[in-house]
Amino acid sequence: MQPLGEKCAVFGVYGKDLEVARLSFFGLFALQHRGQESAGIATTNGKTMTVHKGMGLVSQVFNDELIGSFKGHIAVAHNRYSTAGGSKVKHAQPMLAAGASALKTVSYEDPHPSLNDSVSLSSGPDDGAIALVHNGNLPTTAALEQFLRERSIDTAEFSDSRMIVEAIAARMREGVELTTAIKDVYPLLQGAFSLLIMSRDSLVAVRDHCGIRPLSLARLNGGWVIASETCAFAPIGAEYERDIAPGELLVIDEKGLHSEQVAEPNPKLDIFEFVYFARPDSRLLGKSVYEVRRNFGVQLAKEYPLEADVVIPVPETAIASAVGYAETLGLRFEMGLTKNRYIHRTFITPDQHVREQGVKAKLTPIPEVVQGKRVVVFDDSIVRGTTSRQIVKMLFEAGAKEVHFLVASPPVKFPDFYGIDTPQQKDLIAATKSVPEMQEYLGATSLRFLSYEGMIAATGLPENQFCTSCFSGVYPIDIKERAQEITFR
Ligand code: AMP
Repeated sequence: MQPLGEKCAVFGVYGKDLEVARLSFFGLFALQHRGQESAGIATTNGKTMTVHKGMGLVSQVFNDELIGSFKGHIAVAHNRYSTAGGSKVKHAQPMLAAGASALKTVSYEDPHPSLNDSVSLSSGPDDGAIALVHNGNLPTTAALEQFLRERSIDTAEFSDSRMIVEAIAARMREGVELTTAIKDVYPLLQGAFSLLIMSRDSLVAVRDHCGIRPLSLARLNGGWVIASETCAFAPIGAEYERDIAPGELLVIDEKGLHSEQVAEPNPKLDIFEFVYFARPDSRLLGKSVYEVRRNFGVQLAKEYPLEADVVIPVPETAIASAVGYAETLGLRFEMGLTKNRYIHRTFITPDQHVREQGVKAKLTPIPEVVQGKRVVVFDDSIVRGTTSRQIVKMLFEAGAKEVHFLVASPPVKFPDFYGIDTPQQKDLIAATKSVPEMQEYLGATSLRFLSYEGMIAATGLPENQFCTSCFSGVYPIDIKERAQEITFR
């Protein structure tokens, strides 16, 4: 089975006096941009473990009454965004693995707890009732599958995340305690993972040795919060403490915080977090995402200064870059495109025609801003080219005289295997067309991408701190047999 592409958010809380489910709700709400397909929260009070998850936005899955019904002092929570094919509730997270005692009631013929599930926990030794949330993707799961098959666990319907939780739980049922079980399974995880695991008495965070997906720690009223992005901290009053290090295993329990390095770190944060994913008010590697995006625009102004009447961003990610570009060149900045914020997922609608309609439903130009003007329009990235083509067309239809399309990142030529939902390489426009060919396809007056060097310079960090696979085809974690899916030209 091909692992599912996922761009997700994880969130966790540990604190005796904290309303962990309510905090998780607000945490997920702040992380909604990382996934709109399903949402879920699991909590434990040490005696039972309860999960509620469902398809849709956080506000569609949860209400006040439901949030009030959760009990406990530990929580893990998740927002999921997946490819269309993987859009099923059985892949929603948190994923609960039943412990040996609960196995009497939760049968492995139905290994996917439905929307609501609650298991009683063993009062004796911990027997592997855990809940897990995962941001990232394992491009290859062969080693995990073998491990599970050796234990007669059928993996046929499992996602990569389900395999991880079942493998850890299986080790615990063999009598191994949680952190040892995680360490035993860690070498089998080939890919990108920022994981949170909740047992009856602890919250564990673990990150792949490259730290491809972000994960940060904060303090809150004597307790702890862990989130995919730092933007989840301010809305709940939590105070940023530090990032979880690549290859780190962090355990929070009654005795406090314990950390150990379980793999030699080789830090390679995915630069696409700066380009597209992260919210502008988050900080990654100590840098403000907003500032870095602004620098992308400043850099492009140096590389490609244009004479124009107005600079407009494609909302929302490209706003900061367009501001940087316009300010550097003393050009007028306007919000010439309006975004309907309530439309999601045009990017992944499987049918191309529907996707094109989707762009129109999502973005509309303001004719008064562009009529008779030489327009510079800024987007953060071009993936398939569908959105950009529609935007150029709409701007000309709205009366623009020239439409210069500027992109605040280099051409995306390679698919992602670490948890970003990108199409196959053949569907990436920059993988099959040259820049002049793309310009013609878009129908733009000119088209310019930020240079690779310019993108790195704009972060203020060295190139070796990043995974740049979408742009360079360099995959810092071996993608094994998936390498057959890409070509260099
Ligand atoms: P496209 O029509 O495929 O070229 O779409 C490009 C647009 O999709 C840009 O405006 C990006 O902001 C956005 N985008 C880039 N990467 C992703 C992604 N992984 N998921 C959803 N949207 C994306």
